[in-house]
Amino acid sequence: MSKRLQVLIVGGGPVGMGFAIELGLRGISSAIVERRTEPHRIPKGQNLMQRTLDHFDSWGIIKEMRAARVMPPESPIGGITTYGDLMSEYWYSPPQREVVKDFFFQANERIPQYCLEEVLQNKLNDLPNVETYFGWQAETLAQDDTSVTLNLTEVDGPGQQTLEADYLVGCDGAHSMVRDTIGIERKGSDFDQKMVLAVFRSKELHKGLKRFPERSTYRAMDPELNGYWQFFGRIDVGEGWFFHAPVPMDTTAGNYDFKTLIQKAAGFEFACEFDHVGFWDLRVAAAETYQVNRVFIAGDAAHSHPPYGGFGVNNGLEDARNLGWKLAARIQGWSGEALLNSYSQERHPIFKETGEDFIAARIKREGKFFQTYSPKKDLDTFLEAWEKKQAGAAGDVLSYEPNYEGSAVIEGPTGGVCSAHGKHTFTAQAGHHLAPLELSSGKNIYEEISNDFTLLALDGEDAVTSVVKDAAETQNIPFNIIRDSYADGRTAYKARYILIRPDHYIVWCGEEPPTDTAAIIAKAVGI
Ligand SMILES: Cc1cc2nc3c(=O)[nH]c(=O)nc-3n(C[C@H](O)[C@H](O)[C@H](O)COP(=O)(O)OP(=O)(O)OC[C@H]3O[C@@H](n4cnc5c(N)ncnc54)[C@H](O)[C@@H]3O)c2cc1C
Repeated sequence: MSKRLQVLIVGGGPVGMGFAIELGLRGISSAIVERRTEPHRIPKGQNLMQRTLDHFDSWGIIKEMRAARVMPPESPIGGITTYGDLMSEYWYSPPQREVVKDFFFQANERIPQYCLEEVLQNKLNDLPNVETYFGWQAETLAQDDTSVTLNLTEVDGPGQQTLEADYLVGCDGAHSMVRDTIGIERKGSDFDQKMVLAVFRSKELHKGLKRFPERSTYRAMDPELNGYWQFFGRIDVGEGWFFHAPVPMDTTAGNYDFKTLIQKAAGFEFACEFDHVGFWDLRVAAAETYQVNRVFIAGDAAHSHPPYGGFGVNNGLEDARNLGWKLAARIQGWSGEALLNSYSQERHPIFKETGEDFIAARIKREGKFFQTYSPKKDLDTFLEAWEKKQAGAAGDVLSYEPNYEGSAVIEGPTGGVCSAHGKHTFTAQAGHHLAPLELSSGKNIYEEISNDFTLLALDGEDAVTSVVKDAAETQNIPFNIIRDSYADGRTAYKARYILIRPDHYIVWCGEEPPTDTAAIIAKAVGI
């Protein structure tokens, strides 16, 4: 007989584990199936945006994540960009995530992915309602009107299992079996370019880069490479590195001189020891939808792309945060089907634009820059353009503000759309992430806000808060109220009433009470 749970998760990478934590903390039973028994020893997703650290705070693992940092706390996360190799006289250190730090509660972080995965796995072990099948391969799945069935086999053993659940989420990476089985196509930009990913150790490279202010990453932009990066990332201070760069399509681990490649990109000779050499194709691929009936996809299964800009883990964990509370709401009976449908409706356009406008367009834009400007061709024009490029480097960070203005479960502006483009501001806006501000107690609002629905009432009238509370309670929606004065820095929200979802996006806000409270509450949970 098969075992029945509420949700099955295929894939125990960062996104699958994040999902299981989000669900487990909401009292939902799940099983997570992962073929590996140990994390990959490739550092991969290291740059974690502020919002991702907010998830860890909500999951109660912020201290453990900070402690998992390999680089010393004082070492800066930012990077250096050079024209040509790393010994070039033309270089700059662009402002990065620090330009938006005030709009998030938690500071950004840099942690090798395997360290992050260890912290997530420890948290999973503390959640009694999450069953873990590590060392098991998900083979086939089927769904009908009431359930999803998954067949597994043990990777190093004879074991076979069938699991059943109300819903299944495929977090099984770029080559997702789940996505293929439910027949979701992918679209995007294929650059038809092979990339190498090397992990190596070199103390001499570390010493050779002392000419720069201390940084974590180094991007050598060879003008011949069409905007593709030659990228060095520190794993620790002093020795460990990962590197990626374009290579000819017929390159294999055995037929290419990777040492010469990294020395050429660095601009000097140095001793090094390789620990790993692998390859990936430079393409941006987004699934056409993230849901087919009872089956969903998230993380790299839904969107994959080159590691340019650090969007992979960050977007994947946002998928988990977005869908987690919605699945819990549906299973616990306090939402309509439209809430589940809003997952794909909200998250799909975000990644489509992230992939095309922030990753593919950047490659093309930089490729054109290096075709147009060269210090050898015309030094003055080059220097002017290089200066402008440096000044505009933070542009993408400032304009990357994923929001759900057009969602069916948000009381957004007329004509609003769900988009990765937005503007960071303290002004509360429906469909946008709530910026952190200080309460009169001296605490940050993020220290008080729960993972349920919250009404923030700033000098709000009791009659109004009672109406909102009654409307939520009528639907059995877990709900809290935070009351404070509409004074000091809090006036920056420019709204006295702000209704916030469990993932800390704003459903509705206004200076005046809503005209139809019950309708807004019903809409927020897809009824
Ligand atoms: C060099 C490099 C640098 C990167 N840098 C960044 C960065 O700075 N910031 C960032 O946000 N992202 C970065 N990324 C991207 C990031 O690593 C990925 O986006 C992230 O791993 C996606 O997580 P995931 O859980 O969706 O998928 P994965 O990590 O691919 O996990 C999927 C899991 O599913 C398992 N699985 C697959 N099929 C099955 C099956 N049938 N049965 C059981 N298990 C299965 C796999 O074993 C795997 O563990 C980088 C990637 C690389 C390669």
